[in-house]
Parts: sequence; structure tokens; C-alpha cells
Amino acid sequence: MTENVDKYKEIWDQALAMLENQIKDKNFFDTIFYSSYIYSMVNDTVYIVVNNKFCATTITNNYADLVNEIIYTITQSNFKCIITTKSAIEEDNNKQTLFEEKAKPYVSNLNPKYTFDNFVVSDNSNRDVYTAAMVIAKNPGAAYNPLFIYGKSGLGKTHLLHAIGNDIRLNKPSLKVLYLTADDFFEEYVKAIKESNIEVLKDRYRELDVLLIDDIQFLSKKEKTKEVFFHIFNIFVNNNKQIVMTSDRHPSELKSLEDRLVSRFSSGLSIEVKAIDYETALRILHKKIETQNINDKQISEEVLEYIAKNNCGDVRQLEGALNKLLFHIIVANPSGMITLKDLHDTFNIEKQENFETLDADKIKNIVAEYYNISVSQLTSKLRTSSIVVARHIAMYLCRELLNMPLIKIGEEFGGKDHTTVINACEKVNKMLKTDSNYKTAVEELKKMLKN
Ligand code: ADP
Ligand code: MG
Repeated sequence: MTENVDKYKEIWDQALAMLENQIKDKNFFDTIFYSSYIYSMVNDTVYIVVNNKFCATTITNNYADLVNEIIYTITQSNFKCIITTKSAIEEDNNKQTLFEEKAKPYVSNLNPKYTFDNFVVSDNSNRDVYTAAMVIAKNPGAAYNPLFIYGKSGLGKTHLLHAIGNDIRLNKPSLKVLYLTADDFFEEYVKAIKESNIEVLKDRYRELDVLLIDDIQFLSKKEKTKEVFFHIFNIFVNNNKQIVMTSDRHPSELKSLEDRLVSRFSSGLSIEVKAIDYETALRILHKKIETQNINDKQISEEVLEYIAKNNCGDVRQLEGALNKLLFHIIVANPSGMITLKDLHDTFNIEKQENFETLDADKIKNIVAEYYNISVSQLTSKLRTSSIVVARHIAMYLCRELLNMPLIKIGEEFGGKDHTTVINACEKVNKMLKTDSNYKTAVEELKKMLKN
């Protein structure tokens, strides 16, 4: 800083000497340049401070070119000279800080990644909520105010909130949109309290046109913020400014919110976003692959179907599974086609096969059929060797695939003792390592049980 001041002084002393040479009237020169100095040289501009407004106008009107020329001669740079006063600079600086402070709330916090375009719509899960969000984005404040989106985690609530904001920013850029979570709001509130400017906080919100507030359920834990939020909420709704909220539950279940807030929240439209089905999960996977520029030829449909089948319900989990697979591919199989084998390696599927619809009866029926015996023979006390093998394998499968308690397995097989079940399972385990017939049988049976 001092370095600058010294440099400015040196330049201005030289400039004054040259100016004095050019301006004939010595008294006049002394008057208009009395106690002048260079205030700053930023970017391409030199700010020269003179004693008062009158001097500034006189120099600007009569000697601007001369000053510019002299500064150029000294610095060899094309500066633009502004002749001004100290008070004018201070006023400008104040305006600048004020502007910066005011400009702060217009940071929208929107994530451009979440749009309506990349949101997959399905009749059973989210069509209603998608439609309401779209209507709001096209005409904020006009209908459904507030819009309250609720539903379990991972179903696209945050995505829709950003999509509304991004759409408005694109099509109605003059509107001021703010996205934040109830937690962020709480932090802002605490900061405002600390700095004793709660009114400034309220004013900032007054300037907005659209408020998108995520995870409002967390507000219910923060006692004092509710009052301020209620106030801001009312300003919004009463002025037809759009407010959209999300929560993991219906407003009426936000237990610690007072009735007046619940009834205000419910006064617009509350819509639930529901779990996604298999078919939607599959469409989401295709969309993700398309948007992430992954060549979908690389991933077989069978693989996608498997992921969709095992992760429908929650989109976050679905994405997690896809990402895990993609990561595995990058590490283990960077160039090839993604196959069921990759999937098995990634998810260690052997242990996690989806045998959801399976029960002990199905195992007994299929094993009996496979060994060409009857179910009653399978569960009898008969010790014929082929029946014994079938019985052991059926017990083993009940344990392996259903994780059934030993006693329960004993009951399923004609009231056998649990040690009999343990012996059966141990025998099969041992044989699987040494006898390829066992191995083939178990593998084939598992396949049949999956269908
Ligand atoms: P929530 O806020 O309901 O917990 P998010 O909006 O954070 O859920 O969604 C989790 C992830 O799933 C995000 O990456 C989001 O983009 C994605 N997602 C959720 N629903 C959909 C959908 N219908 N179409 C595309 N992506 C979705
Ligand atoms: Mg969310």
C-alpha cells in the first residue's frame, strides 16, 4: 500500500510540474490543483482527487486531455484519468458495498444439473408432482401457493425444486429465485441474530420472487426460526410470490410445527412423490447413461434390468448401484462390454441373488421334481441314498437362500432334529468342494428357483 502511495506521489509530482508549465496563470493553477493527489490507479483508470467539486469540474472541462497526455508521458500507459473529490469516492465506495450486500441474496444456489428435462416421469410415482412443478415454473405465484412436495428420501424432491428454479431462471431471468434448505435458513437466522440485523434478513427475503426451501421437516426442530419463517412465508404468499417446500412427510405430520404453520403450509397444494416401479427405474438408468455420455451399447440390457429390479423404489439407491458398477468397470474393465459377470463381481451377487418370492415349499417342490421323487418322500424318514441326497440339498438350499433357522428347517422336513439339519448342510458344503455332480445339481437348482 505505502509502495503504491509513494509511486502515486512520484507520478503526480512529475505531472504537476508538467501541468504548471502548460498553465499560464500561476494563481489559477495553484487554486485548481491545491492539495490534489492520485487516489488510486486501478485497471486502466487513474483517480485524481482534487480539493472540491468546482475544481474537479473545471479541470475535467478544460484540462482533461492535457492531464491524460501527461499521465501517458510519465507512465507510458494508456490510463483514463478521472478527476474527482474525496467525498465522491467515499460515496461511490459506500454504494458499492451496499450493492454487494444487496446482491448477496440473488445468488440462487441452484444446481444446473437438476432439470425437468432429465427428470423421468411416471404415472404411478411422480406425474402429478411433476405437472404441478412445471405449472409453477411457467407461472410462479399464480397457482398452487405454496406447493408442498413430500415423500420418502431419494425420490426426486430436491431434483424437482432445482428444476423449478432453473426453469424460471432460464425463461424469466428478471425473477429472483433462491434455493436453500431449512438448515441453511436456520444458520442465516442465527447469524442475523448474532449481528442484530434480523430486519435485514427479512428485507433480503422481501426482494425475492421465488423461494424454494428444501427439507422443511428440519425447521420443526428449531424453535425460534419458526417465527421468522412464518413471517417470511406470509410475505411471500400474501404478495403472490411463489414458495415451494419439500419435506419427508405431509405437513400435518410435522408434529412440532404449530397449527397455524401447518394450516398455512396446507393451504396451497400438497403432493406426494411415491416410490418408483421397475419400469421407471429402468428408464431412469437409460437416462442417466445417456446424460453421462456412457455408450449404452457397452452395458447389456440384462445388466440394467438386474440393477433396476433390485433397486426400484429409491432413485438415490438406484443411482448408487449404477455408479458402483461404472466405477468397477473403470477399474476392472475399462474398454470392454459390461456383462453380467461384471455385475456379479461388483455386487458380489452370488450371496445376494434375488430370491424374494422363494419359500421352503417352492424349494421342496423343485428339488423333488429335479430328483424325480415326491415331496412326501423328500420329507419322510426314508434313507434311500438318492432321497437322502435330495433331502440334504433341499435343506442346504433352505439355509443358504432363505437363511431359515435350523429348527424351522427341521420342521419343514418332517420334524427332523436341528442337528440333522446341521449335518445335512455340512455334508452338502463338503461335497460341493469335491463332487462335481453336487455342484452341478446345486447350480441348476438355484437357477430353477430364481425363475
Ligand atoms: P430427495 O430429495 O427426494 O431425497 P433427490 O432429488 O435428491 O431425492 O434425488 C436423488 C437422486 O435421484 C438425484 O440424483 C436425482 O437426480 C435422482 N432422481 C430422483 N428422481 C428422479 C427421476 N424421476 N428422474 C431422474 N432422476 C431422478
Ligand atoms: Mg432432498
